[in-house]
Amino acid sequence: MVILIFILGLIIGSFLNCLVWRLHVGKTLGGRSQCTRCHKKIFWYDNIPVISFLVLKGRCRHCKKKISWQYPLVELATAILFTLAYLQITNYGLRITDYENFTAYGLRLTAYFVFISFLIIIFVFDFRYYYILDVVTIPAAIFAFIANILLGMDWKSLIFGGIIGGGIFLAQFLLSRGKWIGGGDIRLGAVMGLMLGWQMVLLALFLSYTIGAAISIILVALKYKKFSSKVPFGAFLSSATILVLLYGDKLLGWYLRWL
Ligand SMILES: [Zn+2]
Repeated sequence: MVILIFILGLIIGSFLNCLVWRLHVGKTLGGRSQCTRCHKKIFWYDNIPVISFLVLKGRCRHCKKKISWQYPLVELATAILFTLAYLQITNYGLRITDYENFTAYGLRLTAYFVFISFLIIIFVFDFRYYYILDVVTIPAAIFAFIANILLGMDWKSLIFGGIIGGGIFLAQFLLSRGKWIGGGDIRLGAVMGLMLGWQMVLLALFLSYTIGAAISIILVALKYKKFSSKVPFGAFLSSATILVLLYGDKLLGWYLRWL
């Protein structure tokens, strides 16, 4: 079963790559995928996640244009995160014949896979283009709210979480007159609250700042970046949210022990 989830992750990851690309160039979905340079159609046998990248040695079959590492990395990351979510939610796996449990866990699994997919799109887009798209955050917010209510979460906790997440960035936005962060961060903060509820969103925000600070210090120390250069903060926010979605309870327990 784990293998099936992993393969599902690879396929969804490949679809997410395609979505990021189309959101970037502003094309609508539909139509076959094609090479970004020679525009030759990519056939299914050249479009198998990860494997095709390895077989073609990272180049287009026709024009030999280099294919970005983003493609296999996003596919692998999606597959790994789906697998971790599956193991976490089902408490280390189900047998494929275990129909009863599938219906019990199905809703939560589906919801988490969609959450993770939204967060991966936000991560990749912010990481590459330093931008958080409203066409992604707004559907993510609506989906998160509805899914969490169906999963039995308290709507007040969700709304409160959304207000905390969005409010923290709104405050910084107002304080800095829009210099430190953009409006996209405010909406992403609200998405985090609606996905996690108010307790966990605090943990996720704390983690984002910790991860962000740690990575910035490392990059500055290695002289990759100047201190003032742009930071894809949305990428830290979305990775912290995924971390808390999967391991929030454990992280919180671990953190409280250190207090
Ligand atoms: Zn090509």
